Amino acid sequence: MLIRFLGTHNAESKDSKLVSFLIDDIIAIDAGSLASELTFSEQKKIKAILLTHGHYDHIREIPAFAFNNIDHTTKVYATSQTFKILSSHLVDGLIYPKFTIKIPFFLEKPSLKFIELEPFNKINILGYQILPLPVNHTVDTVGFEITSKDGKKIFYTGDTGSGLSALWEHISPDILLMDLTFPNKLENRAINSKHLCPKLLIKELREFHNVKGEFPRVILLHLSPNDEEEIKKEVSEVSKALNISIEIACEGDKIIV
Ligand SMILES: [Zn+2]
Ligand SMILES: [Zn+2]
Repeated sequence: MLIRFLGTHNAESKDSKLVSFLIDDIIAIDAGSLASELTFSEQKKIKAILLTHGHYDHIREIPAFAFNNIDHTTKVYATSQTFKILSSHLVDGLIYPKFTIKIPFFLEKPSLKFIELEPFNKINILGYQILPLPVNHTVDTVGFEITSKDGKKIFYTGDTGSGLSALWEHISPDILLMDLTFPNKLENRAINSKHLCPKLLIKELREFHNVKGEFPRVILLHLSPNDEEEIKKEVSEVSKALNISIEIACEGDKIIV
């Protein structure tokens, strides 16, 4: 399974892109930079899009993607609350066309098909087993365990605060892709906005170890670009304390699982 990171930050600039990554170039996870970081022909290869939640930085390029791919229908998977946000605030027929219906002289067939996910209900998408699990964020959010045809597993938390321990018994990932948004000095902001900082991350990883008896490979994303250097230093302290290596994903990184 090949993971390709398109965007790994929570704020956008010339050098930092919003969260989105690809699985084997055919499944997209979150859509913060799904159109702007791919060529038209790369976008055409994408057969399914999975969304963790309805915040702007994760859904923003759904309309651009749909506009670029009106000649075929792409399946989008998310919870009902995420679709409610998307349909009422972005793909609403005002800001962007309603890409889920036929539109005379524009859309001969819908370019998006919304398929609702239920947390804890495993679903097969293009031969991958996808298990959506609820995480702790300010709106309904699911993380995804993705199992490839050859049994390789990753778990992506999406945006989340503390309190993931109840999930660990449901999954057994080779790689854990985790939210790490703030440095420790903004711990209160992390708690209030339900994200993680290194201090909160170490607790989650220790609990993972308590339940599973080992640490997975850990890759962090959703960093706040202005605090990135500070976050990296603090993450390296977590890494030393647990005696594991912890990676920080960057735009353009490719990882084979
Ligand atoms: Zn969020
Ligand atoms: Zn976010």
